[in-house]
Amino acid sequence: MADLLLNGHFMAHADSDDFGDLHISNAADTPMHPNAFDLTDAEKIEQITDHFAQIMNILGLDLDDDSLKGTPKRVAKMYVQEIFKGLNTQNKPAVTTFDNKYKYRRLVIERNIPLQSTCEHHFQPIFGVVHIAYIPNNKVIGLSKLNRIADFFARRPQVQERLTMQIAEELKRALQTDDVAVYIDAKHMCVQARGVEHHGASTITAEYSGKFLNEATKQEFLMAIHSKMPD
Ligand SMILES: [Zn+2]
Repeated sequence: MADLLLNGHFMAHADSDDFGDLHISNAADTPMHPNAFDLTDAEKIEQITDHFAQIMNILGLDLDDDSLKGTPKRVAKMYVQEIFKGLNTQNKPAVTTFDNKYKYRRLVIERNIPLQSTCEHHFQPIFGVVHIAYIPNNKVIGLSKLNRIADFFARRPQVQERLTMQIAEELKRALQTDDVAVYIDAKHMCVQARGVEHHGASTITAEYSGKFLNEATKQEFLMAIHSKMPD
C-alpha cells in the first residue's frame, strides 16, 4: 500500500470529497505532482495493473476467471496509452500553422468535434461535442489540428470548465491571436448514472476572448454552431 500514498498525492480528505462532488476547479493547469514522469509508461502500466487487480480483488471478484483475468492489464493500458495519454505533454499534437496568405479575416468554425473525456472526480466518462472558432490574424491552422488539440486535452482526468480553458489557451498560443471561442456541450456519466441520476442532462461551458467578447461576433458563432447541417 505504501506506494499508493506516493508523495501524499493519493490521499483523500473528507472535504475534498465534497469539493469533488460539486465539480469545482480553481486552476487552469491540470494539478500534477513533480514526479509525474519519473516512471516510464511501461512501469506505470505494470504498477496500475497490480493496483487495479487489488481493487477488483477487494470487491470480491475472482481474478482467475477467464473473463476477468485480463482486465487489470487492459485497464492499465487504457489509462496510460489512451484515455489519459494527454497528461504527458510529449503526446501533444505538433501544431503547424501557415501564413494567412488569402487574408481571410472572418470566423473559422470547427463544430461538432466529438468529445470523449473523463471526470476527474469520479473517473467516469464525459462525452459530447466541442465547437471551436477563431478569427485568423496572420496565421491559419489545418482544420484537423483543432480536433487534435481538443482531443489531447480531453485525454486527461478533467473538469469541463478546465478543459474549455485549456483548449482556448492552446489555440491562442498556437494561432497567435486572442480571437478564439470554445464551446462544449457534454454529458457526464457521473451525473447520468450515479448521484442524482439525471439522464439527459448536459453541461455547457464556453470561453470567449478577443473579438468574441463583441456581442455580434459571439452571436454569429452561436448561430453557426446551432444551425442545421444541409442534408
Ligand atoms: Zn464526476
